Amino acid sequence: MTRDYYGILGVSRDASDDEIKRAYRKLARQYHPDVNPDPKAHDRFKEINAAYEVLSDDQKRQIVDLGGDPLAPGGGGAGAGPAGAGPFVGFQDIMDAFFGAAGGGGARGPRPRTRPGADAILRLELDLQETAFGVEAPITVDTAVLCTTCSGAGTAAGTHLATCEACGGRGEIQSVQRTFLGQVVSSRPCTVCQGYGTVIPHPCPTCAGDGRVRTRRSLTVKIPAGVEDGMRIRLAQQGEVGPGGGTAGDLYVEIHERPHDVYSRKGDDLHCRVTVPMTAAALGTRLTIKTLDSEEPVDVKPGTQPGSTVRLRARGVPHLRGTGRGDLFVHLDVRTPTKIDAEQERILREFAKTRGEEVAELTKQGGFFSRMRDAFNGHA
Ligand code: ZN
Ligand code: ZN
Repeated sequence: MTRDYYGILGVSRDASDDEIKRAYRKLARQYHPDVNPDPKAHDRFKEINAAYEVLSDDQKRQIVDLGGDPLAPGGGGAGAGPAGAGPFVGFQDIMDAFFGAAGGGGARGPRPRTRPGADAILRLELDLQETAFGVEAPITVDTAVLCTTCSGAGTAAGTHLATCEACGGRGEIQSVQRTFLGQVVSSRPCTVCQGYGTVIPHPCPTCAGDGRVRTRRSLTVKIPAGVEDGMRIRLAQQGEVGPGGGTAGDLYVEIHERPHDVYSRKGDDLHCRVTVPMTAAALGTRLTIKTLDSEEPVDVKPGTQPGSTVRLRARGVPHLRGTGRGDLFVHLDVRTPTKIDAEQERILREFAKTRGEEVAELTKQGGFFSRMRDAFNGHA
């Protein structure tokens, strides 16, 4: 019986070499015993390998296309035999051997000693006053900076890097395995030089060969007016210097705005609450509101209701981009007096009477509300 090699890889009979490769990679990722512990996957993987062995070889593929089976005993294919059931090589080796870096093996050759540094992030707490109008804030940064002793080279004065003898400067050690896939070359980073291809016979005494040292620096960061909580200010190349003195990453300063005692902020608008006595709300009055940077008169109109709002235009936070400012919203809390003396009570009752709003008096025992309750319960 002839096996359907095209069907096993799920490709059409006129599939290109590239399509066959891709199909194989996809299936190998799914069924290789290194990644799939299911015992059935083991057999499936053998099949997939056999199909790939045949279809990736022009001669064997031709035999298949003519109706034969190059892997069958006596099938006539050159090199036919137990190859399809041969030993497995490592999953990553297959990926590397066939697909290079795309298979996850990474770049080849020695890796450079000098590499770009990482970005750093720093949290900066500011008051509303500072986020609103900007500030020059001192910050302390703990990062790696260039080693001044060796200027990043990592070598002691008067000495140089030497080629790694273990890998001959390639940064990797290669091993060749003969498998059913043909020759599979696998490579591992050289452990003697950590893949650099060079060694430092005499490391710089200051940085021990890293080319950078950790230090604490003080900087001043200019915070523009109108920044908001959570925003990040980027300081180019103020982050970590890279290994071997590589270009520094960026430093991001993340703004955290402390809550304000009086104002809450929504975008560039500010909100505050002001308590107004019941009498002032009824009669109207003028208040003075301290904004972030000025004092403003606020007119409370006669008959102001609880929950009313007065809007002071352009007394909020300056816009970060463009000109102008947000608004300040003053929320008026009308307060009812909690304690009044006999004279005040008399005047209030008189007031109520003139408005036809006579108020039932509280009793010494239960009070108005408990009498109401009793009335509802039918005990009155
Ligand atoms: Zn150094
Ligand atoms: Zn080496």
